Amino acid sequence: MRILLVEDEPDISRQLKAALTDAGYVVDVAPDGEEGQFLGETEPYDAVVLDLGLPKVDGVSVLERWRRAGLATPVLILTARGGWSDKVAGFDAGADDYLTKPFHTEELLARLRALLRRAAGHAQPQLSCGDLRLDPKAARATVNGEPLRLTSLEYRMLHYMMMHRDRVISRTELVEHLYDQDFDRDSNTIEVFIGRLRKKVGSDRIETVRGLGYRLMPVGAA
Ligand code: CA
Repeated sequence: MRILLVEDEPDISRQLKAALTDAGYVVDVAPDGEEGQFLGETEPYDAVVLDLGLPKVDGVSVLERWRRAGLATPVLILTARGGWSDKVAGFDAGADDYLTKPFHTEELLARLRALLRRAAGHAQPQLSCGDLRLDPKAARATVNGEPLRLTSLEYRMLHYMMMHRDRVISRTELVEHLYDQDFDRDSNTIEVFIGRLRKKVGSDRIETVRGLGYRLMPVGAA
């Protein structure tokens, strides 16, 4: 899952990027509203963390422009303490959730998990497909109760596929949601990583749909 973080305070930005990366997300950071708006419009993020007090273009304006352009990505806004009117403006502009600074990183991660889950239409905090389970909180997956040893990329791939387990996912889509903007993206390498993931989860769990992409198959009892 790929997250956009729009935050101008370098310390908070660094700290959040590290925490999000540790939690198994791939993160792009924008230090001002202008770049944030641009990235949000041009890259397909799974969720956005948007500070409201930003240089160049303020967060509420960025959000209004995104929503006017039809962008449906879930957005969590960060507001200053006591800024109740900012929260109202943020929600009216199309925010899905908020956090007031200062906040605990754990709370941000929990809210983000909930946003991602709701956006993908899941109610359960744990994702499952047959006897394959993935716990986004622990960033861990199991098959029939046995833990899988996944690299961070394999975990991201499985997480994304389990979030969208009811449909075929193209290689391009996987590339766009597994790597950050600085990565030299080549959709041919996806096939290699799918091969490695298949070896770990069992080859019958990932179906290749010729010309379209991949689909997760439920194997074993749920
Ligand atoms: Ca700020």
